[in-house]
Amino acid sequence: MPQTLSSLRTQLIQLTEEVRRLREIFLERPPMVPGSLYTLRRRCGKPNCRCAEGHLHATEVLSYRGGPRARNITLRPEHLHAVKQGTDAYRRFRQARAQLVKLHRQMIEVIDRIETERVRQGNEKFRTLQTKAPRSKSQPKPKAKAHAKAKAHR
Ligand SMILES: [Zn+2]
Repeated sequence: MPQTLSSLRTQLIQLTEEVRRLREIFLERPPMVPGSLYTLRRRCGKPNCRCAEGHLHATEVLSYRGGPRARNITLRPEHLHAVKQGTDAYRRFRQARAQLVKLHRQMIEVIDRIETERVRQGNEKFRTLQTKAPRSKSQPKPKAKAHAKAKAHR
């Protein structure tokens, strides 16, 4: 059974609302950092260091993907917070973009179904206006066509 026009309209409105919510993410202001953070844990190699007993040194590293190839940048603790804000904002932005692509695809689908349904309704409504609607795809006779045209111009 085809979906009703009203449920398709509701779907279109809901999709539009979701797009509006995503728009807020694109309008945010923080500078973005294309990359992600990870913690590198390692031993320094000094035999007397605490890392030799398993307490590894932790370094925050930015895997930066803004260039032609990814590179790893060691971060100083005082920069960590600001860089994290930048990578968080970037991740949010990219996820929202992917979601927007999906939503637009869904919107086109719903719009196409609305078109189908409204054209079907149009065919139903105006069926009675057609005298002897041809059942096949054969062309109407030129004479009949001319007649219909003359009628329309009256
Ligand atoms: Zn060490």
